[in-house]
Amino acid sequence: MPVQDPVKLWCLGVGAMLTEVNGLRHDEIGGWAPGPRAREWCANVLSDSWGVAGEKQFHEIVDWLTRTGHSAEARSQIAGLGPNPLADYPKQTIVRAHRQQIERQGLLAWDCGRLASIVGWGFHVGYLDENETWRILHGNARRVQQTYSAWRELGDAYVMGRMWWAQGATNEKTRNAHINLIGSPNSPWNRMPWQHPLGDAPAPAAPGASSKATVRFKRSVCPSCGGHKTRPSQTAYVYCDFCGTLADYDFQKACEVPAKQPGPAYQELNARLGPMMQQAKATGDVNGYRNLQRQLFAMYIEQLPNANPPRVSDPEYRNRYIEYMAEGGTVTAFDPQALALEAEVTRSIGALQWAFPKPGVMKVAAHSFGPMANAVFAQQDYIARLYESRGVYAMHPDRAPGELQKRVGISLFVQGWLPMLDEASTQAFLERAGLKTEYVEVEPVKGDKADCGGCGNPLEVLPGAKRCICEKCGRGLEVAGERISCRGCGAPLAPTEGSSTVTCPHCKNSFQRVQMIQPGFG
Ligand SMILES: [Zn+2]
Ligand SMILES: [Zn+2]
Ligand SMILES: [Zn+2]
Repeated sequence: MPVQDPVKLWCLGVGAMLTEVNGLRHDEIGGWAPGPRAREWCANVLSDSWGVAGEKQFHEIVDWLTRTGHSAEARSQIAGLGPNPLADYPKQTIVRAHRQQIERQGLLAWDCGRLASIVGWGFHVGYLDENETWRILHGNARRVQQTYSAWRELGDAYVMGRMWWAQGATNEKTRNAHINLIGSPNSPWNRMPWQHPLGDAPAPAAPGASSKATVRFKRSVCPSCGGHKTRPSQTAYVYCDFCGTLADYDFQKACEVPAKQPGPAYQELNARLGPMMQQAKATGDVNGYRNLQRQLFAMYIEQLPNANPPRVSDPEYRNRYIEYMAEGGTVTAFDPQALALEAEVTRSIGALQWAFPKPGVMKVAAHSFGPMANAVFAQQDYIARLYESRGVYAMHPDRAPGELQKRVGISLFVQGWLPMLDEASTQAFLERAGLKTEYVEVEPVKGDKADCGGCGNPLEVLPGAKRCICEKCGRGLEVAGERISCRGCGAPLAPTEGSSTVTCPHCKNSFQRVQMIQPGFG
């Protein structure tokens, strides 16, 4: 049956370039209605173009496209650009020409476009069931939607990625596909608005339809209540399903979304406040400096909410988070030892040596990486002790353990360097930073259906849970005991913490949470 759900059509639209190049259907998974012909064609293209001979290889390629792709290689080439453009390899020429775009987005359109197609083909061969296929396609689509701002931009970026891959060569089929998708009124890109809300992953098909209904997520135990994580977290910030505290940080999840840079408004503010911060530092004006840091972090969070805990959508949390971040920046800026260690990190980065394992591939030479890693960890260890003794860690609005805050603090730095490290250095670096991710795959635990009393986001409340975090609006929710049934529409609501009145996010009916008991006299 052709796909009709607009969200699913949107997900397929991410792979539209290869669907169009191959003359396939835009409203079927992998471009084909299921059947023996689809199976044969998909098996052939996977083996001929991708060298996929079996399920294991297929999953390796899906994994690679999801986590690394050609984006990593193109990004690492930026660091390897020499001063002379005339000495560039063809790939370097393209990287140089699209440097800012590649810094921000990698070759995501190319990686995700191909991922959307091969996932569909793998479905027809039987490497994935339908639920798993949609789960991957949906995650892929969300990533693309967050990174680009229009179908046309996605198409242009795809063509650029393909040209990079082909060492600068263009391809007529690709160009024609691009023209059709942009120009034809029947093209999926012209029938679906780019901004269509993609929402949560599509609901799984009826039970029995799937043999692989398991979920994969990071194994973790809540340091606060000992609860075991039993379901995937939507973001890298893993909140306990039982008590709602920040329980862990999932670095692999963080890497699924490419690190973005804050936009021009932030850069402008930074340029404007920079000299004022220098001045405050020079005159020992700690309060003035802290104030400037607050402004800067407020803007950073506004520009890149997804780089921060999902709870920053809650204004009260956000304010406390800004205070915490600003205090960290201020304490570091006025501590001579911290400044000396920071200078040492900068020096060690300047002293790195580079290796070229393949033409156009550039990695940090393993022997020169050790001294830099030592400098980084010396700095991080010192800052952790400083934050502990100066009460910065205590200001964390989730009151997360210091060890966890330290891991989060180093994560962005590690993420930036990974593409430039060889496999052995990568593993050692992750291990030392405490960012190795161990995943478990289990059957999802059934809970109680409830809707967030703040935003209506559907949740599942596990037996024994007292408090949880809505990953959509960031509010803390009280989920002990039974749900409140909306007096207007009957929706099972999980009220936001400390609220005495509930306004149903669905029907807007307002009512008191509990019958207020009149205080007696005497
Ligand atoms: Zn807990
Ligand atoms: Zn919510
Ligand atoms: Zn209602």
